[in-house]
Amino acid sequence: MISIKTEEEIEIMAQNGKMLAKIMKELAAMAQPGITTNEINKVAEDLIFKYKGTPSFKGYNGFPAALCCSVNDQIVHTPPSDRVLKEGDILSLDLGMKYNGYHSDMAITVPIGEVSSEALHLIRAVRKSLKRGIKKIRPDVTVGDISNTIQRHLEGQGLGIVKELCGHGIGKNLHEDPQILNYGKRKKGIKIKKGMVLCLEPMATMGSEEIKKEADGFTYATQDGSLSAHFEHMIAVTEKGSRVLTSLE
Ligand code: MG
Repeated sequence: MISIKTEEEIEIMAQNGKMLAKIMKELAAMAQPGITTNEINKVAEDLIFKYKGTPSFKGYNGFPAALCCSVNDQIVHTPPSDRVLKEGDILSLDLGMKYNGYHSDMAITVPIGEVSSEALHLIRAVRKSLKRGIKKIRPDVTVGDISNTIQRHLEGQGLGIVKELCGHGIGKNLHEDPQILNYGKRKKGIKIKKGMVLCLEPMATMGSEEIKKEADGFTYATQDGSLSAHFEHMIAVTEKGSRVLTSLE
C-alpha cells in the first residue's frame, strides 16, 4: 500500500531531511585518508542523538550501526569497521534517521583524497542519474518513467546497473511502497501522486551488473570487484513537481 502524506507530515519529514543532510555534510568532510569507518559512524550516531532522532538502520534486519560505509567494490549495506580509508578509495555513506515518528534516508558517494578519473566519472554519472530521475518526478508520470530515465543515463555513461536493489517509498516505515527500480519501461507501473514521499537511489558499477553478498551477511559487492557508486535523496511529490527533502545545498 502506498501512503499519501499530509502537508503536516511532509513538513515533519522535511525537518528530518534537513537535519539528515546537515549530518551527511559533516560526515563527508570527515571522509579523508587515515580515518576508519567506525569513527565516521560514531559521529553519525552522536549527531542523530543531538538532533533528538534515532538511527533508522541500527537494528533494522540486525544491522549493527547507524551508518552504512561501503568502500570501492562494496555497493551498499556495509557495517562500519576498523577499516582505514586510504587515498584513492571511494566511500558510499548511507544514513537514515527517525524523527517525530517519520524516517529519512539518503546516501552519497565521496572520493577519499585524490581518486582516478574513472572513479570520478562513476561518481558524477550516478549523481547525475539521480538528478535526472528527480527532475522526472511529478504527478501522473509513472514509476517506470522515473526508472527508465535513470537507466538511460547510467547506460549512456557505460555503467552497469545494480538491478537487485532499488528505491522505495518512505514515511512511518523506512521502506514503503512503491519500489522504484533503477531500470524500467516508460509508461509502466503505478502513477505518481502528490503527497507521496519517495527515495530514489541509483547504484551502478564500472564493470558487470553481477553482485554478491559478502561474508559479513550485510554487504552487497560487485562480483567482478569493479568500483560501484550510490546516491540517494528523499523527495516529496508536490502539485507541480517535487521537493528534495534531503538537499545538501
Ligand atoms: Mg533507501
